[in-house]
Amino acid sequence: MRQVRLLPVAPRPLDDELLSCWQWRVASHYFTSPQRIESWISGTPGGRNQDFFSSDFHPDQSAIRLWARACRIREGDLDRLSLQGAGRPKSSFVGDPLDRGVCPVCLDEDAEEGRDHYCRRSWVSVEAVVCPRHGTGLENNCGRCFRSGLFQFRQTPAGVVRLFCRYCGAVVSARGFQRRYQAEIAKVGKVIRDAIAKGGPELDLVTKASRFFWAPTSDGPPYITALGLPLPYGRPPSAFTGIAPLMSLSPAWRAVTIAAITELLFGLVAETPRLPSSARKAFRQFELEPTAPDLQAPLPTQVASTVELRPEHEYGKLATDIIQSDCWKSLPPKAGRARSRAIGRLMLRALNGG
Ligand SMILES: [Zn+2]
Ligand SMILES: [Zn+2]
Repeated sequence: MRQVRLLPVAPRPLDDELLSCWQWRVASHYFTSPQRIESWISGTPGGRNQDFFSSDFHPDQSAIRLWARACRIREGDLDRLSLQGAGRPKSSFVGDPLDRGVCPVCLDEDAEEGRDHYCRRSWVSVEAVVCPRHGTGLENNCGRCFRSGLFQFRQTPAGVVRLFCRYCGAVVSARGFQRRYQAEIAKVGKVIRDAIAKGGPELDLVTKASRFFWAPTSDGPPYITALGLPLPYGRPPSAFTGIAPLMSLSPAWRAVTIAAITELLFGLVAETPRLPSSARKAFRQFELEPTAPDLQAPLPTQVASTVELRPEHEYGKLATDIIQSDCWKSLPPKAGRARSRAIGRLMLRALNGG
């Protein structure tokens, strides 16, 4: 066997850690990427070209051997980290790391206990929308700048690895935010997890239902956005998903979808989703003939509420009243955010009749 270069320091993998996460942690200690580490230890420029998902699900065995030797770890200890041994189909894991969430509370615990931040394997399952340990929502948005995007592993000057927001550079953490315990959605997640574990017809039904909810309607947007359910961020998704929707949805959209699936298939109603009865009929139709759901069926609620305009002269009067009021005289004199906000408040008060 070719000589393998040894890494002087490499963190040990944790029991419930994701394989690609461990590789990133190793690489972060050298301020580089797993690909470059691999090319260095094997002495071959370029290194592997496996995407995230394949390297977590069916890693190249020769590469695993290489990593194990370079880091003086047993090969079997790395094999355990891959998703292959989870006994679930590949389609039951979220593909794009951008759509996987992390639990900031778990990450805070890592920090408190003095170890690196690390990603748990359980966070990659399609039904993982809340942390099984803390019951709070898994997040893929930064708590400080609210942007979504892949968090990055970086080593701090103290020598530990932390997950950072790549935009604002904040460490991913739950501190400073009160998080709600999502008991309902945790229950829903368990129902889906059991169905996946059971496999067979139950898993087929879950898969079919997820395709049903994400089938495009004749208007374009997926069926799930037309059911009057409360949508994440109050708007339709920016991109529509294909054949295995759960694999490629953000945690928030997966939460809505799995709640709708459990209600449709198992009669378990979560706190918020309430499917119209027409959805059941549409699903039976979809089972027979998987085409776009029929939107002709009457829906009880409309997603977009129509704006009710008042006669033109009423607005004129409201505006005049505002300008003549004492509040108008006491507005911040200089144009700017404070003044705009104060005007906004006056408008709102006038429109609401207060
Ligand atoms: Zn947690
Ligand atoms: Zn940020």
